[in-house]
Amino acid sequence: MSDIPYVLLVEDEESFADALMVGLTREGFDVEWVADGVSAIEAFERKTPDLVLLDVMLPNMSGLDVCRLIRLKSEVPIVMVTAKTEEVDAVVALELGADDYVTKPYQFRELVARVRAVLRRSEARNQDKAIENVPSILKAGDLVIDQDRHEVLLNDQLIAFPLKEYELLLQLVANAGRALSRDDLIDAVWGTDYVGGTKTLDVHIRRIRSRIEDDPQRPLRVITIRGVGYRYEA
Ligand code: CA
Repeated sequence: MSDIPYVLLVEDEESFADALMVGLTREGFDVEWVADGVSAIEAFERKTPDLVLLDVMLPNMSGLDVCRLIRLKSEVPIVMVTAKTEEVDAVVALELGADDYVTKPYQFRELVARVRAVLRRSEARNQDKAIENVPSILKAGDLVIDQDRHEVLLNDQLIAFPLKEYELLLQLVANAGRALSRDDLIDAVWGTDYVGGTKTLDVHIRRIRSRIEDDPQRPLRVITIRGVGYRYEA
């Protein structure tokens, strides 16, 4: 990230966008504003931002779809903006891989604090990756994770994994045979100031099971440890 964080602001209401542009610029951000989802994807392809501030309710493509499309190819931090009446959107946004959300009407200070926290986390994550001495290939029984290629193989078959599920599986497999608490898993994958509760974690565990368990109802790999969390069984 350069010294001046480059923020892509996706917001169709001009009055909101204007106020945010002025405020964020004053706070030291370089802001590009687009007013709909299609333009957001185009702007994203042109120049990768350090952070995307993404309204959910947009014309022609919802912010949730924009989030999903960006997550297919990038780990760029995403902060979603939802309305109070759309609480379900916040949960969906986090499940799609958004890093955090703010609810309209918001205090500008709160929004800036969240944006900065998400940027800090993402920077720390990138530094961790650079210095981490974890082997690039992890094996647990018939499962192999190739970190350089970002691939999961089960019995030599490539299995497609969305980013957050991949990161969660990585934590479990890197600690195979050890029970990990829900809190530790959430901290590792979503960050320590994540506020979304454990439901998102459980949904991701369910999706992982549906990909790698023969019978997801009777998992033999990703085991639930009652009252604690989960353990990967090699
Ligand atoms: Ca809107």
